[in-house]
Amino acid sequence: MSISKTYSIRCPECGCEQTVELYDSINVAQEPNLKNELYENRLNRVRCIGCDTSFRIDKPLLYHDADRNILIHWMPDTVLSREEVLDEFDRTMEDLRGALPPDIAPPRVRLVFTRAELVELVFIIEAGMEERVVEYIKYTIYARNMDRLPPAEKQLLLNVQDSTPEELLFAVLDSKTSELEDVLRYPREAYHNVRKMYRETPDQFDELFPGPYISARTALMEESAAEE
Ligand SMILES: [Zn+2]
Repeated sequence: MSISKTYSIRCPECGCEQTVELYDSINVAQEPNLKNELYENRLNRVRCIGCDTSFRIDKPLLYHDADRNILIHWMPDTVLSREEVLDEFDRTMEDLRGALPPDIAPPRVRLVFTRAELVELVFIIEAGMEERVVEYIKYTIYARNMDRLPPAEKQLLLNVQDSTPEELLFAVLDSKTSELEDVLRYPREAYHNVRKMYRETPDQFDELFPGPYISARTALMEESAAEE
């Protein structure tokens, strides 16, 4: 079941206050139209009653796909730091595990910080791709292009929709403004080779990207912080 609640919000343009219904959680197996709203950037979007400006409210959202047994938490890091979000997340997961009967397999749980990451992950899962393999490829792209693609400043996102049978397409975003700066192409054959490696030695990939937030950028930034 999808869950929405009433929130009091203020327009970023004119300061006008209004109460609106926003989703806390969406169940896309039951309500696939909500997935389209997410893709089209219409989910939790509000139109100001004062000045008619349209804006999106970024708030914690739980994306649940029961058909694929996956839960993705979108926790915008605008209010809390990423460390605080991760602590809070661990507590929620312990509660969830405690609440589930022992014979029920817990869902795969993921954490994302931005809407773009959520959409990217949903596309990866629906395309039947392995998210850790995708992140590993990003990891190698960063590692080979540290000058041009410093992980602290540039975010790579896989564009599943515009990828072809021959090539994977990655968008390069400025990590602060989220503006699209460039597009990179990567042979899909190389993806298949990495996936073969992943299937043979999944532990190494799990170690590099333990989750719940699976990110090459974060792994590289943590490595460089540890070196300093
Ligand atoms: Zn307004």
